[in-house]
Amino acid sequence: MDLTSDFLVIGAGLGGVAAASRLVASGQKVIIVDKARGVGGRAATKRLGDLRVDTGAQFFTTRDAELTAWVASRLGAGARGEIFEWARGFPLWKDGQIVQRDGTHPRYACRSGMSQLAKLLASGLEPVLGQPVISLERWSGRYRATLADGTTFEATSLILNLPPVQLVALAAPLLDPSWTEAISDVHLEPCFAIYGELESDLQVDWMGLEFEGHATFRWIARDHTRRAPGARPVLLAHTTALWSQERLEDSPDAVAAEAARELERLLGARFRSAPQAHRWRYARPTADAPQKISLETWSAATRIGVCGDWLRGGRVEGAILSGWDLARQITR
Ligand SMILES: Cc1cc2nc3c(=O)[nH]c(=O)nc-3n(C[C@H](O)[C@H](O)[C@H](O)COP(=O)(O)OP(=O)(O)OC[C@H]3O[C@@H](n4cnc5c(N)ncnc54)[C@H](O)[C@@H]3O)c2cc1C
Repeated sequence: MDLTSDFLVIGAGLGGVAAASRLVASGQKVIIVDKARGVGGRAATKRLGDLRVDTGAQFFTTRDAELTAWVASRLGAGARGEIFEWARGFPLWKDGQIVQRDGTHPRYACRSGMSQLAKLLASGLEPVLGQPVISLERWSGRYRATLADGTTFEATSLILNLPPVQLVALAAPLLDPSWTEAISDVHLEPCFAIYGELESDLQVDWMGLEFEGHATFRWIARDHTRRAPGARPVLLAHTTALWSQERLEDSPDAVAAEAARELERLLGARFRSAPQAHRWRYARPTADAPQKISLETWSAATRIGVCGDWLRGGRVEGAILSGWDLARQITR
């Protein structure tokens, strides 16, 4: 493997693969690395036996014209039809009642799971996966990253697509202090994804249910409604930031068991086997985080760029657009 490149991209979440693929398309040599075993970051799809579950992002929206056109070219049936419109909106649980709401705009999902979105964006890239970058340094006018297994990569430019806390922890000495200050102002709150196969599907008419004011849950989905028709029933729940924070260091089994008891009480859900919990330590920006951070995301002087959802509202759409924007600034 070639260990030197023009750009080293750290973090193969949606923002990182979006930036990297545009840079490759403009003729740059790019290495992209991620500590996880697959691309997609928080747009994550886990295996549950022979089933698949979206444990992170559930769906995405497209308000931007360029992203809308990109999605349109991949919609529908056939080899390129991985993305489909899952819903137009969801009812709301509030004070023990389910309130129907009119659908507004499309919510898109992927038949084989949301990580497929990153795979589509990453086409043409050969990410280096499964090892975290543990140190970064500037050396002889180049950036050098060392992975946990000792491999080092060098590049003239660096792109950081990491949640704010991890970004600052890894790269603060290399960043302009004004960047570090702006980035440190953004905080991501935790969430648990609780998921398991059901003995039988819930007798309800919703595919996803949002919650307001519930102590435990903020979102529940009948995950199988995103898969091929006839898929076995799988329930997925996301817990509130406060509930998650209070149990952040508990064992996942204990967290899953507690949430499962509540799901049984709330919905009559009966799991085929003990459900699982995935802990997202940094899930989404807190409610008071700005929708758009005013930060020059590319420094031509240091040749460091940053991207990621937290710059633009903490959603799938924002992550992809932040990566495309960064690549545009670099290549213009
Ligand atoms: C529970 C949950 C539910 C969500 N629901 C929705 C939703 O329904 N709709 C929506 O639009 N958005 C949703 N989101 C938000 C959405 O998932 C994110 O906005 C988006 O996926 C972020 O992409 P990103 O590339 O900016 O960051 P990330 O996906 O976080 O990518 C960062 C990458 O950096 C890697 N990394 C971290 N440290 C290192 C290191 N030291 N070395 C190497 N790699 C490293 C990580 O493994 C990760 O792959 C949800 C998120 C969560 C967690």
